Formats: sequence, C-alpha cells, structure tokens
Amino acid sequence: MKNQINGDKKVWKILEIINWTTSYFKAANVDTARTDAEILLAYVLNVKRIDLYLNYDKPLLKHEIKAFKELIIKRKNNEPIAYIIGAKEFWSMEFKVNKNVLIPRPDTEVLVEASLGAIKKIKEKKPKSRLKILELGVGSGAAISAIASSASNNIYFGADNSEKALDIAKQNGKKHGLKIDFFLSDWFEAFKEKNITWDIIISNPPYIRTQDIKNLQPEIRLYEPVSALDGGKNGLDAINAIISEADLYLNTNGLLLLEIGFDQKDKVFDIANSKKIYGKPECLKDYGGNNRVVRIGKERTKGEGWVEHSETGQY
Ligand code: GLN
Repeated sequence: MKNQINGDKKVWKILEIINWTTSYFKAANVDTARTDAEILLAYVLNVKRIDLYLNYDKPLLKHEIKAFKELIIKRKNNEPIAYIIGAKEFWSMEFKVNKNVLIPRPDTEVLVEASLGAIKKIKEKKPKSRLKILELGVGSGAAISAIASSASNNIYFGADNSEKALDIAKQNGKKHGLKIDFFLSDWFEAFKEKNITWDIIISNPPYIRTQDIKNLQPEIRLYEPVSALDGGKNGLDAINAIISEADLYLNTNGLLLLEIGFDQKDKVFDIANSKKIYGKPECLKDYGGNNRVVRIGKERTKGEGWVEHSETGQY
C-alpha cells in the first residue's frame, strides 16, 4: 500500500489515517475495520471517538503515529481490541481486562439479568434480607460487579483459581466502588469444611469442548485464556463439578445459575436431575435466541425431604 503509515515526511491527518487504517484492516480481514480504527486512534489520542470527527483535519504528532502504528499491528494480528486498550464495556460499566481474563461477553448479561431477577423475587417476600451471593470463576469480575452495582444491600463473594484474574477482579470491584470479597479457589475447594453457604451461586464456567477450541476465531483462540474456555472432552467438566457440589453450599431454596453453551441444555438438565436434590431445572435464552443460562433451585435439603419452593420462585 502506498503512503506507508511510518513514511517520515507525510503529515497524517485524523480522517486520513482512519481511512488508511480501515483499508489496512479490511485487507487483513478484520471485520469491524472502521470501528476498530476509530477506537484505537481515539485511545492513542486520549479522546472520545466522536471527537475524532470534530477534529478530522488535525495533523497527528510523530509520537502519536508511532504509538498508533504499534496498536494497529496488534489488531492486524487478531489481538482483540479489548486487550489492546485494556478495557471492555459490560452492563454499561467499564471493566479493566488483560489476557489473564476472558473478555466479558454480551451473552453473560443474561446471567446478570437472571441473578437480578432472582434477587428481586426473593426480596419481594423478604424485603429486609441481605442475600449472600457467590460467583465462581469471576475472571474480570464483570458479572458479580454488575450484579453488586445493580442490587445493593447484599453480601457479595467472588472466587477464581487464577491469582492474576483475581487481581483484575479486585481492581474492577474497587474501580466501581463495590464491596466484594474475593477468594482464591478452584470452584468450591477453598470453602470445603468452612461451613459457609449462599443464597445464590452463579458461574460462567469454561464450557467449550476441548476439540472445538482450535476452531474458535483467532481473536479467542490465540489470545483469551484457554483455562477459562476449555470445558474438557464434552465441555461439561466444570459444569458437572459445580452442580455436583453446589447443593452443599446453597441455603435451602437457594439457587444456582450457570451460563452454558447453546447446545448443552439437555445434558446440563440431565446432570442436575441426576443429583436428585435440586428442583426442576429451567433455561433462559440469550439475545440471539440460544439457550444460555440454566437455573437450578435447591428445593430440599439432605435428610429433610422436600421443602416448599416459595422463596426463589419463578422470575
Ligand atoms: N461464550 C464464550 C465463547 O464462545 C465461552 C465462554 C465460556 O466457555 N464460558 O467464547
């Protein structure tokens, strides 16, 4: 391409460099070429995207061009925008992200909605109750932070088996002024024999089949933490581990909410039903119409038989 971006003599103006980068990204099969060009330029110039167009003929300084060039090469190599700029919006909140955490997906907002629906339902019956809510595998902490910011007066906990992820989750909790207690734990490991139970446990565990990982888009496959994606041979290892133990950590009438793969509903229902301690599982769809969140209520406790399913109810 002529007009190499690092050509020494050329003066690059904002609109010009956006147009050039859009073509450069298109040639590299980046599908959101123009948007990405704008986001990266706005990031380098430390302005809002809209400001780019208000100053479209402003020339760029040499160091700005140099910094921008480094970023567009990363994007050309399929690095996700969120990792390049170190941030992702989720639930209208901005979260810090890096390669140690999964980039929050819009699908996971369904998990947040389901959690908020459940909290609301319980509080309609018991308005003064402070619920204990745990997220397993918090990653960036986006889901538990979104819930904590939307439903105050509860007690929030988050766990992850990665110290590096917990570091990001803690920063995000703090950034949004939330009180969330974080634990280093491989699923329920750290809570064994601690005699602690929750009203709601949520998780977006790894649920991709190991053999499918290699077919994921390069942005995911090459950059996102595989431990947050790989659910083992049938994709259900983590889901199985969580459902198998969750009853020990749920209060009577407590609720387990799990994000699942679009084709995993029946298998997850089977796992839940085989435990014989939970109520009838239910499934919520995401905005694309795919089965996405399974809701499993603990309706009876060991040795006590059935208890009335009234607290959590439907939502
Ligand atoms: N939905 C994510 C993806 O498709 C996977 C998230 C997960 O395994 N929890 O990349």
